Amino acid sequence: MTMRFDHHTLGQRVVFESGRAAENTRAELDRMGARSVMLIGTERQRRLLDRLADRARIVWTDVIQHVPVELADRASAAADENGIDVIVMIGGGSAIGLGKAIALRRAVRLVAVPTTYAGSEATNVWGLTDANGKRTGVADRVLPGTVVYDTELSASMPASLAAASGLNAVAHCIDSLWAPRADPINAALAGAGLRALSVGLRTLTRDAADASGREDIQYGCYLAGVAFASAGSAMHHKICHVLGGMFDLPHAATHAVVLPYVLAWNAPAAPAATARIAEAMEADNASEALDTLRTRLDAPRALRDVGLREQDLSTAVPPILAAIPSSNPRPIDEHALTRLLRAAWAGDDVAGLSGKDSS
Ligand code: NAD
Repeated sequence: MTMRFDHHTLGQRVVFESGRAAENTRAELDRMGARSVMLIGTERQRRLLDRLADRARIVWTDVIQHVPVELADRASAAADENGIDVIVMIGGGSAIGLGKAIALRRAVRLVAVPTTYAGSEATNVWGLTDANGKRTGVADRVLPGTVVYDTELSASMPASLAAASGLNAVAHCIDSLWAPRADPINAALAGAGLRALSVGLRTLTRDAADASGREDIQYGCYLAGVAFASAGSAMHHKICHVLGGMFDLPHAATHAVVLPYVLAWNAPAAPAATARIAEAMEADNASEALDTLRTRLDAPRALRDVGLREQDLSTAVPPILAAIPSSNPRPIDEHALTRLLRAAWAGDDVAGLSGKDSS
């Protein structure tokens, strides 16, 4: 078979060292010649914010999930008034998303210091929410030029958030394998990312204090984000973005619930992707491996448990159907999507979705 692809690699500097977020961020600001710095982070990151405050013109702590447009407008106005040229975003995808929203409006350089496994730091994808739901887009100007990883920052996540956030990274790997721009390079990154995530998440369930587990997860989460940024958003992400934006659901937990249903749906039509997932998870069967991992992590299993009402399902079907890329290995229609969402809402067994005739 002839190999043919058109791959684009995003340019980023990645500094990875546990326990040194403050020192490495300072060094990065020096290297960049930052003149007027805005720090973004929530009160949870107060310690690190305080350690960097002397380098900042503004410390911005108002952060809201899915970046409401009104918040982005206010933060952008503050950046304008203070002539900000570098933004340091400390936190999960929400803090990083706010910095990206500002970068959409004015020329700033971004430094991401992630504290969850959401992976936004590795992508040129932005998201904004208004009364009509969540809009996402791609723009190179929102790609953080530097990522500073310090695995001690993720240690404060409660076990439930760490589990869901880790599964969010797993979802980046799995969804990349059938995404619109899937290619051998992002598939290799997705496989390596999934292997590291699976090792790290298993370590986390054995001993949450084991720093090597957090290193594996953080490293895997970066590879996952790079694979996702390159391959694009596929069926799983489209479902989660529509649900999250329309009904303000918690991002990581929504991913943790939906992923097995999408895997079960696509698996019969995607044998190579499914084999890669199983191999990376050191298992014979991809769906079983994911289920075992979810059980070990005690991850959320039903959309009704993360805030979705049953009557919202029918509202979500049309926009999701419109968003699912044509690259999806197994076509899905309104009836089958409704069945998939209903199963995910109730936390039903995924087995009913995998039969090729179930659409
Ligand atoms: P989040 O940033 O909203 O954080 C979730 C909660 O955990 C918040 O209350 C936060 O304060 C808290 N938190 C964060 N780090 C913590 C820590 N170390 N210890 C204790 N608490 C901590 O959640 P998220 O899942 O990281 O990000 C979700 C958002 O990011 C969504 O809006 C999603 O759409 C976006 N996202 C974007 C991309 C992208 O490529 N653009 C990728 C992934 C996620």
